[in-house]
Amino acid sequence: MIKIKTGEFLNCCYPELDEYPFLTAVSSTLKSPFGELEGIRSDRDLEEHLVKIENQWLQELNIRQENVVSIKQVHGNGIHCAEIGGFAGEFDGLFTDRKGVFLRVITADCIPVFIFDTRKMITGLIHAGWRSLEKGILTNAIKIAVDSYGSDPGDLIAALGPHIHQCCYEVGSEVADLFSEEYSSKKENGKYMLSIGKAAQNELVKAGLKPENIESECECTLCNPETYFSARGGRFGKGRLIHITGIRTADRYN
Ligand SMILES: [Zn+2]
Repeated sequence: MIKIKTGEFLNCCYPELDEYPFLTAVSSTLKSPFGELEGIRSDRDLEEHLVKIENQWLQELNIRQENVVSIKQVHGNGIHCAEIGGFAGEFDGLFTDRKGVFLRVITADCIPVFIFDTRKMITGLIHAGWRSLEKGILTNAIKIAVDSYGSDPGDLIAALGPHIHQCCYEVGSEVADLFSEEYSSKKENGKYMLSIGKAAQNELVKAGLKPENIESECECTLCNPETYFSARGGRFGKGRLIHITGIRTADRYN
């Protein structure tokens, strides 16, 4: 993952995709360009402000808002195969094989997982927090790529976007016990530090991806408050860490 500044926005991009210029995969934190959200007095003000900024961001990416697929994320393992832009319902993951259709996921500490098959020309974007990982959302995602689009898991490329890392993710035994011991370390206070990144990578490998096809280098959302919003950092609701992927048409403006 590398960071590229375009206009007001600092975008995280995935250089392993550079050889596929038709693929778009970008993450960015949307907030007031002035840092502080002045004049925001209610949740409604904030929502309107974020919608406005998101539209500016999409314009910079040359993406039309009506071509973006959005979901209500519910920490489940449901995945929708999208054919058109617009609201798709309650899901935590999306796939598309349609050019000019862009998938959108928001996170605040959970992992955005981008999935690509450059042979079958499909892209997917998954919202993977501990609840969804425990429900096997990534196994489900790879199964959908195979069953619905004819992908060979050995061809798939995955990239993990910015999320909370083990350095900052303290959980109780009720969460740590849901995962293999290799993903957490016990602290003196009886709590655990959990690596959802490792859990996600291993799930992808178990589902048939080649380890070298999984890009896991990304930053911790809580360690980098200047760049990201973190729910655990106590700043949830004042910004939005947003992710977009899609396959572009030949038009400059999609
Ligand atoms: Zn950290």
